[in-house]
Amino acid sequence: MVEGKARYRRVLLKLSGEAFGGDGHSGIDWSVLAGVARQIKMVLEMKVDVGIVVGGGNIFRGAEAAEEGMDRATGDYAGMVATLINALALQDVLERAGVVVRTQSAINIQQVAEPYIRRRAIRHLEKGRAVIFACGTGNPYMSTDTAAALRAVEIGAEVLLMAKNAVDGIYSDDPRKNKGAEKYSKLTHSEALSKRLGVMDTTAVSLCLENKLPIIVFSLQTPEAIVKVVMGEHNGTIVTSE
Ligand code: UDP
Repeated sequence: MVEGKARYRRVLLKLSGEAFGGDGHSGIDWSVLAGVARQIKMVLEMKVDVGIVVGGGNIFRGAEAAEEGMDRATGDYAGMVATLINALALQDVLERAGVVVRTQSAINIQQVAEPYIRRRAIRHLEKGRAVIFACGTGNPYMSTDTAAALRAVEIGAEVLLMAKNAVDGIYSDDPRKNKGAEKYSKLTHSEALSKRLGVMDTTAVSLCLENKLPIIVFSLQTPEAIVKVVMGEHNGTIVTSE
């Protein structure tokens, strides 16, 4: 158990498809997910409200399907449905860990998940339930990073926590390709935008800039990474308005 106090009262955690895939990069790595669920439980026990936006890249990406000739919008809808699969896996693992959780979907699929209703999501959070937001923004040509920024602003989260698997922060270049790439410990939203740093898309960063929402990019590989970042401890990159 990690001792200490939480720095935030409400956070939005973005778990990319890559995080679900673990080292296998595709499908679902159940042991990674169990670790994530255990940490979310600890964060909730610290009386922090937790909203979670899930990605889908471990299953389907619209842009990649479009490169193979698929209609882009149809591919994007398939990508959004893929995020629902991750959401259900996470919902199940959280429940097995003893967490009360609700999944809300931006695309209507009411036999499986609640529809996204902002005020209802906030009510769940106030009751100490984790809320998983599935199906991104519900619109094609968008990303789940943008959905994460949007939901964070909508629910009044104090910070957007971007959990990564392959990288541990924002670098000047792709550290997997360029060994000389430098990691930033701090950046402004404008710097992240002007340098086009590629860790989040520009729509997502713009939304955070306009709403002065801090972003922390950190690695899930650090033990208890989610709990630590909620306590203000991380080795990643923080993006703020000044
Ligand atoms: N997507 C979309 N609109 C959204 C969110 C997601 O069309 O608001 C689609 C898009 O095709 C994307 C896929 O869903 O490629 C999976 O999401 P994303 O690539 O953002 O997941 P991640 O990179 O986090 O795994």
